[in-house]
This record gives sequence, structure tokens and C-alpha cells, in this order.
Amino acid sequence: MMTTMSMISTDALLMNKQRNQQVLIGRRRTRGTSGVKRENKQKIVRAEQQEMNTTNKSKYDYDLIIIGAGVGGHGAAIHAAESGLKTAIVEGDVMGGTCVNRGCVPSKALLAAAGRVRDMKNEDHLKHLGITVENVSFDRQGIADHAEDLVQTIRGNLTRSMESVGVDILTGNASFVDNHTVSYGGAPGTITGGKKTAKHIIIATGSKPFVPPGIEIDNKTVFTSDAGLKLDWLPPWVAIIGSGYIGLEFSDVYTALGSDVTFIEAMPMIMPGFDREIAKMAERVLISPRNIDYVTNKFATKVTPGIPGVKPVTIELTDATTKEVVDVMEVDACMVATGRSPFTQGLNLNNLKVETQRGFVPTDEKCRVLDTNGKVVEGVWCIGDANGKLMLAHAASTQGISCVENMVGRENVVNHEAIPAACFTHPEVSFVGLTEEQARARAEKEGFEVSISKTSFKGNSKALAERESEGMAKLIYNPKTGVMYGAWIFGLHAADLIHEISNAINNKQTLFDLKFTTKAHPTLSEVVEELFRGAHLEGGMPTQRKL
Ligand code: FAD
Repeated sequence: MMTTMSMISTDALLMNKQRNQQVLIGRRRTRGTSGVKRENKQKIVRAEQQEMNTTNKSKYDYDLIIIGAGVGGHGAAIHAAESGLKTAIVEGDVMGGTCVNRGCVPSKALLAAAGRVRDMKNEDHLKHLGITVENVSFDRQGIADHAEDLVQTIRGNLTRSMESVGVDILTGNASFVDNHTVSYGGAPGTITGGKKTAKHIIIATGSKPFVPPGIEIDNKTVFTSDAGLKLDWLPPWVAIIGSGYIGLEFSDVYTALGSDVTFIEAMPMIMPGFDREIAKMAERVLISPRNIDYVTNKFATKVTPGIPGVKPVTIELTDATTKEVVDVMEVDACMVATGRSPFTQGLNLNNLKVETQRGFVPTDEKCRVLDTNGKVVEGVWCIGDANGKLMLAHAASTQGISCVENMVGRENVVNHEAIPAACFTHPEVSFVGLTEEQARARAEKEGFEVSISKTSFKGNSKALAERESEGMAKLIYNPKTGVMYGAWIFGLHAADLIHEISNAINNKQTLFDLKFTTKAHPTLSEVVEELFRGAHLEGGMPTQRKL
């Protein structure tokens, strides 16, 4: 009897074999195998292909249907089409989802422009480089337009990239009829729609801003990142509820463009998800010298919109410990950056006997959807923000690729502790894996040792040349095995620097390998080299350098 897994992947395996055969034919051609022998081989391959084509006639419209064309759906679609799966993607709104339209892309465009303004207004910094710039000004609408233009460009690129590999794009909101059938349609302005079947269906429906109860959004004076990214105006004083990475990035933009910011944080410390040491340094560089202050351990329990220039926004603050109202703030605007909630409404998951958990779709380690009994729902997968494993664009995409790998019979499980993350403030913060606090807690529970290697950007020639040497990096590792549990970088281009460590963790490399790698001089990558070389490994170093 076939196992569930082997039943799932039989068609895909055949297709995969077919694709490999095509690659083989190509290789044979380029190698130029000669004469009768080559012709005979090609005849055999053609016969095998014909046989597979016959076996491969599917009872479904598609091998794979993906619900949601965000970055997760896009990553899965491209990889599926390139792996030989007949693929369709259904989108109920604009292509590109949160990242392209309301997330990573426009926010980085605003940060890029605001960062330039900050740099050019930093007279002291420029003076030390021998530069004088006078009367720096900016056009708010011009910056907003830059973000919108980038969104349009990337949305177009994303759509064309799927069309070019033969992915069918269907429009409308999709919902489950059963585990192999979706119905779709109803998108504004479309007349298409219907039912389609597929051997596999991936849920990639993403998330939306989470707005706590008591907060009234008017999208003008009280707004989430969705409206904030439009940069319709620059309020003189903005309260940002939540000091996670979205709130921090917005504080970077607002303060560079002249607004004052107050963070309202429910936890006892700001930047609560960060490694404590990194958070302290980030506070010293990103918060204290700027027009930013904060209150901690306070909930914004009631937020009432105002009228710009006429009536302030009022924010009722409640102490997180005593639960008593302790203050009412009046500000020009309030941005709500209290996290995101999964968008899974309307999928008819009850038709699959699946119950969401706080809106998230329950999945196993391979992103296969689980029903109320914890059993895998055959053929149904969920990736990205909707499963809540790690709510980042590249995590969604990696999970999508991983699902396709499993569909075509190549076992794959994503190691989420090897997925990097970044906050694109000036300077940036990046990390992979655990904080020092998390690693020490795990070490105590599981009985292993933890050591820390630390370095500063102050000794880095490239950072000094830029006169941007505020920053530090730390690596959390096991001194006996050289295994790395996490790394944190705060400093110039930290978001780019983290990848050497995250890739090494993903490839299960240890510090015994990495100590002997070489970086070009002078580069910021030497910060990472310092981390590797500064790690003390018990039992010393292997005596021979690996070449
Ligand atoms: P989404 O991108 O949300 O896409 C889901 C898609 O599904 C949407 O297009 C939606 O319309 C569609 N959909 C939903 N339901 C249906 C349905 N029933 N039928 C058809 N279609 C449906 N991440 C990073 O990695 N780096 C960053 O720098 C970064 N910056 C961010 C900045 C901001 C301000 C925000 C808000 C987020 C940021 N993120 C960042 C997070 C990132 O945007 C998300 O993690 C990512 O977009 C999740 O991708 P996804 O494919 O799971 O979902």
C-alpha cells in the first residue's frame, strides 16, 4: 500500500524525472556524444518521455493552485513552474501583496529618501568629510511618489516574472470547496471566476495590520502602516504605538523629515524583541540623540482621531501592571504598529475541518495544513504570514519553495533559526537565530555551554572611512562544538552583513570552518570576520588551515 506522502508526490516525481531527463538530453547534446550510440540513447529517452506523458495525464486542472500573490505565493509559483508543475495563482486584490504594495518595498523607498535627508542635514558629519551642504530641503510629495513608483515597478516585475514561466494568473477571492477544489471570483472590475481543481493547493493569504480594541482608525490622524506609507502629510508630533521593527523604521523616516516621535510600548522595555545589549546600543544611537521619547509598560487603551491643525488626537494610557488609566496624551497623529494578524477570512477552511488558531492556519514542520485532529489535510499547504511561523517576506518565499520541493518528492524542512531578519533604520539592525537571553535559557534547559564573541565597528577601516563607526556585532555560539545559535549586528549595512552567518548556520557550518575564511580589506565584512576569529573554541584550533 502506498503511503500518503508517496501518493501525494507520484505525479510530481514523474514530472521531476521528466525534467531531469530533459536536462540530460540537453547535456548530452552539448557534450556532443556522437553517431549511432547517441541516436539510440535519444530514442530511448524520447520513448520514456512519451510513456511519462501518458502516465502523467492528471485528473486535476492544475498540479498546484496558490491562493494569494504576495511574495510567498510568488516564490512558490516561480519554483513550481520551473519544477515542471502546471501552476495557477489566484489574487483577490493587487498583485504583490503586503511586501510589494504596503510593506517592505514602499517602506524601504521612504527610508532611502529620508536617510539621504538625514545625511545631508548632518553638518558635523559632512564637515569631517570636508563637505559643506547648504539649505537642504525636500519635497514630501516627491518622496511619496518615489515610493509609489517603486511599488508600481516591482509589482510589474513580479507579475511578468510569473507570466514568463507560464503561471496562470486568476483574479478574485478564492475559497475552498474541498481539499482539491477552489472557487474564485468577485474581484472588483473582473468578470472572471469559477472553480478549479488542483492536486496541491497552497494558502498564501498573508496578513493585515492588527489594531487593538479601543483604537479608532481614521486613516488621516490615526493610521496603520498601510496609510502611513502614503506619506500624505508630516505631522509635527507622532505617537507610535509599538516599538517593533515597523515602528522603529517609521520613527527613522519621521525624525529625518522633521517630526517628533513618542513611542508607546506595552512591554517594560522598548524594542522588546531585540537582544538586550543590541537594544541598549540601538537606543543610544537611534533614539536618544533624535527627537524621540518613549513610555513603557503602558497600553494605549483608547485612541480618538483629531483634525490636523484643529483638534489633537487623544490617547488614553493604561499602566500594564496596575491596569489603571495613568495619562491622556494629545498629539498631532498616532500610528498603530502593534503587529499584524493573519488574513484567513473567507477561505472556508471549515470545508477542510481546519480551525485557525488566533487566525493562523495550523501547519506541521513542512507547512502542511493540519485539521482539528492534528492530521495532515492531504494536498493543502500554508505559507507566509498566514501560518505565523516567521512573518517576513523572505521566510514566506522560502517556505513556498520548500513546499514545492516536498511536492516533487525532494524532502525539505525550512530551518527558521537560519532565516535572517533586519530593521532598516540608519544604521541598520540585523539578526539570525536566538538572542543571548534566549540562547542562555535554552542552554540551561538542555545542558550545553554558550559563549559570546563581540566586536565593534570602531576598529573597522571601511566604517571609519565613512565616519560611521557606531555599531557592534555579537555572535552566540557553543565553545565546544563551534555551533552558532544566533548573531546580532547593529551598524552600517548590518542587513547585508548578516547573510554570511545565516547561510553558514543553514549549511550547518561551525566556527571551526569559518575561522579560516578571508575577507577583502577594507570592507564591512571584516566585522563578521572579527566575530569568527574572536570566538574561543575549546580544544584550540585545528592545526591545518583548510584550503
Ligand atoms: P502577503 O504579502 O500579505 O500576500 C497575501 C496576498 O494574498 C495578498 O495579495 C492578498 O490580497 C491575497 N489574498 C488574501 N486572501 C485571499 C483570497 N481568499 N483569495 C485570493 N487572494 C487572497 N518583511 C521583510 O522581510 N522585510 C521587510 O523589510 C519588511 N518590511 C515591512 C514593512 C511593513 C510596513 C510591513 C507592514 C511589513 C513588512 N514586512 C517585511 C513583512 C512582509 O511584508 C510580510 O511578511 C510578507 O508580505 C508576507 O508575505 P505573504 O506572501 O505571506 O503575504
